[in-house]
Amino acid sequence: FLTWADEVRAGAKRAGVKDGFGVRTNADLPEDARKAREFGAEGIGLCRTEHMFFDEAKLEAFRVMIVSDTVEERKEALKEILKLQIEDFEGIFEAMDGLPVTVRLLDPPLHEFVPHTDAEINALAAKMNMDSKALKSRLEGLNEANPMLGHRGCRLGVTYPEIYDMQVEAIMTAAATQTKKGIKVLPEIMIPLVGKFEELKMLRENAQVVIDRILSETGAKVEYMIGTMIEIPRAALTADEVAQYADFFSFGTNDLTQMTFGYSRDDVGSFVPEYINKKVLKDDPFQVLDQDGVGQLVNMGVEKGRKTKPELKTSICGEHGGEPSSIDFCYRAGLNVVSCSPYRVPIARLAAAQAVVNNR
Ligand code: PEP
Ligand code: MG
Repeated sequence: FLTWADEVRAGAKRAGVKDGFGVRTNADLPEDARKAREFGAEGIGLCRTEHMFFDEAKLEAFRVMIVSDTVEERKEALKEILKLQIEDFEGIFEAMDGLPVTVRLLDPPLHEFVPHTDAEINALAAKMNMDSKALKSRLEGLNEANPMLGHRGCRLGVTYPEIYDMQVEAIMTAAATQTKKGIKVLPEIMIPLVGKFEELKMLRENAQVVIDRILSETGAKVEYMIGTMIEIPRAALTADEVAQYADFFSFGTNDLTQMTFGYSRDDVGSFVPEYINKKVLKDDPFQVLDQDGVGQLVNMGVEKGRKTKPELKTSICGEHGGEPSSIDFCYRAGLNVVSCSPYRVPIARLAAAQAVVNNR
């Protein structure tokens, strides 16, 4: 396997793909990361940190945080979460010793995190010393008609900067601790759902303040990068501006497909099979990259991004990163990395090798 990875990288370089072409995995837990590594993954391309919040203790503290009225209350709840997040990242960094780990800052559709049942609402009200009715009306204020187009991703980082500050502190504290133990940690902090460079500029500056503080407090030397996902069409269209503030781009083709087609990624079962039957669609665009539409946004994003910053690293971490014809497209688009779920890593490696051979 390792020989293959070297071959693929070398082949890609010969074909002019700067920094080569490799396969990483999407993983949020140390067990998954280890499994993917056994399959030959060369790093983590997407660690979805919201999945770490399904843990009861963090979920409860997070709920307190989002319904709190005061910054003090929010900061108190975040202190509890910080300790747990440091442990999460220490585990992931240890499992990926020597390999890069892209950690995506929180991207929760808020509706998945607020309490829904009466029992959950009563428990939270009790914890916050609040009347259940008052809590219910605060929760109604968080309601959204289209949560997937709502208060998620970097929008949450802009409106609640303390959440991203806490996560960056946890990532860098864990990185510093593990580095001091002799573990090689290569963290890449990724900001999701950017549509305007102003979002990335602001959040990058916030992150930098925290990073500088942790590195100076711990005295650790950690090589890190800060980048963004390109998953909103506007980000691809303005990639030249976005690249000014990004060390890397990762194409989130799940959301990019949703927003380019205007199909809800959670509801396509109702008409996509019929569309395929009637030949309106060749494939399910959430499984196989739509090269003519979504793919053009990927091409545009890479070209515009590298025009601003020739050394920009590029990858894909949507479902398509594990699908062979999409991997071939990604190779031709000049991406450096495809990232997919652990069990798709062996197929992705084969497809990556084939892409190099087919496009010689
Ligand atoms: C994506 O949108 O392609 C992506 C990888 O992020 P998520 O699936 O978590 O929205
Ligand atoms: Mg996404």
